[in-house]
Amino acid sequence: MKLLEGKTVIITGASRGIGKGIAEVFADHGANIAFSYNSSVEAANELENELSSRGVKVKGYKSNAADYEQAQSLAEAVVKEFGSIDVLINNAGITKDNLLMRITEEDFDKVIEVNLKSVFNMTKAVQRTMLKQRKGSIINMSSVVGVKGNAGQTNYAASKAGILGFTKSVALELGSRNIRCNAIAPGFIETEMTAKLDDQVVQGWRDAIPLKRGGSPEDVANACLFLASDMSAYVTGQVLNVDGGMLT
Ligand code: NAP
Repeated sequence: MKLLEGKTVIITGASRGIGKGIAEVFADHGANIAFSYNSSVEAANELENELSSRGVKVKGYKSNAADYEQAQSLAEAVVKEFGSIDVLINNAGITKDNLLMRITEEDFDKVIEVNLKSVFNMTKAVQRTMLKQRKGSIINMSSVVGVKGNAGQTNYAASKAGILGFTKSVALELGSRNIRCNAIAPGFIETEMTAKLDDQVVQGWRDAIPLKRGGSPEDVANACLFLASDMSAYVTGQVLNVDGGMLT
């Protein structure tokens, strides 16, 4: 059964990693996909071609989610091209890890802008369209680090915890209009990036997880699929941990 047949989805930051995994799973479920990226033009073109061959409409947009004006233009362009916006996935994110003692003001601000302000920018940008449709699902990518905190990641943890407060507030504000807003808190997800890390270190992380493995982009994508589809029609304001039991 295809759960997203004919729905238009915006995914920020889908040129690689988790965002790419979401785009692939959503395309298989019949969604038309508008995705953004920051600089990876080649990877974005490849994904556009790969997904278009699966019979859905796909378009990649080079758009900085941290920039308010660019976010508004992206949503406008998507409505023009696709005709609606049914699902928004705020996935774009970065890290600039350092101990509080060493972290610069610039690296604090940058992470807050890309990870948290982007969620505000894009949610504002799709709000009018979803209100008109009297329907919408917004999914924000937080992290276990936003729930629990992590030494060396004050900026990242603050941005991801901020997303949780934003998510719950939007759920309260827009629930009466049938617009749902939920967050996902992934644990350790193995991507191209983690493949470059020392295998012994990574194995140590896997061993500490109750399910004894790192997650895959597809694991996160399947949780997004539930929250994006009508299967979760009565679920809003929630944080879904996709972490192999890490926070249990
Ligand atoms: P990733 O592999 O580094 O990919 C990040 C994506 O975001 C890329 O497509 C990148 O585009 C895009 N991006 C970065 N800055 C952007 C901006 N300003 N505007 C638009 N797009 C931007 O990251 P990931 O591991 O898949 O993580 C995805 C999300 O999940 C993030 O929010 C992250 O915090 C969260 N998360 C990840 C993990 C994990 O273990 N991997 C765990 C918990 C939460 P370019 O390719 O053009 O740079």
